[in-house]
Amino acid sequence: MDKAGRVKIVITIADAQAQPRAKRRVLVPTMGALHKAHGELMRVAREAAGKHGEVAVSIFVNPLQFEPGSDYKRYPRPEKSDEELCRSAGVDLLFRPSAEEVYATDRSTFVEEISLSSTLEGKSRPGHFRGVCTVVAKLFNILAPDAAVFGEKDFQQLAVIQRMVRDLNFKIDIIAAPTIREEDGLACSSRNQYLNSEERRQATVLYKALRAAANAEEQSPAEIIAVARKVIDAAPLARIDYLELVHAETLQSVQAARPNTVLLVAVFLGKTRLIDNIRLT
Ligand code: AMP
Repeated sequence: MDKAGRVKIVITIADAQAQPRAKRRVLVPTMGALHKAHGELMRVAREAAGKHGEVAVSIFVNPLQFEPGSDYKRYPRPEKSDEELCRSAGVDLLFRPSAEEVYATDRSTFVEEISLSSTLEGKSRPGHFRGVCTVVAKLFNILAPDAAVFGEKDFQQLAVIQRMVRDLNFKIDIIAAPTIREEDGLACSSRNQYLNSEERRQATVLYKALRAAANAEEQSPAEIIAVARKVIDAAPLARIDYLELVHAETLQSVQAARPNTVLLVAVFLGKTRLIDNIRLT
């Protein structure tokens, strides 16, 4: 941010790479339609950047991570309010490239993580994590941050990025930010705005189910999952895509419900697909 409190906005890759940089740069990659959870990631980034460091935010609706027929075209792109949120969060640099420049029409190189990506979201959304890893690797190369912040709301994405950074030796610290929720517990998401009022009301079952399962007396993974399933099934508009209890590092299913496990859920409310997760301690 300059002295007048303006965010430096850059569009082209050449311009992004030509920017003078502070001692430490912390990146928050997003797809825009920014909400208070993104604001919290920016706050975490600010703290991690330190007094002489800078916060960079990227906004890029990445076509490569949307499966055919999904919501790529209708994904919200509110440029002005996104800029405003970045400004009020004290962001220094906003990188908002075009899909045309990011992806050459004859592109033939991708980044693919093949173990953690094969379950859960990866199973439901083939190609999704290949798209995520490819764009995040490109953003890392373009902006060369010292650290990057990702939300635990996308638990599997965080695990996949951490694996990619380890496996490909990116010299970048990955910082995990906790899930930010609305007052009624629904995890903030740009996709929440697709919900009509009845779907929005019933969307609270995701977190209710996760909490019920995490606090349940039941001990076995199957019983704990059944507790969550019952809560979601009570909402007529909710349709479970997956509900799985896995090891927090391998993302493989577990024989025992604890320790170091996480319960992840994906639910359709009408056409909108929402995800959430909870650690079992
Ligand atoms: P998106 O713009 O949805 O791709 O998200 C950009 C970043 O914000 C990702 O690291 C997400 O995990 C994170 N994020 C989105 N929603 C939340 C939330 N409710 N709590 C914490 N992080 C979030």
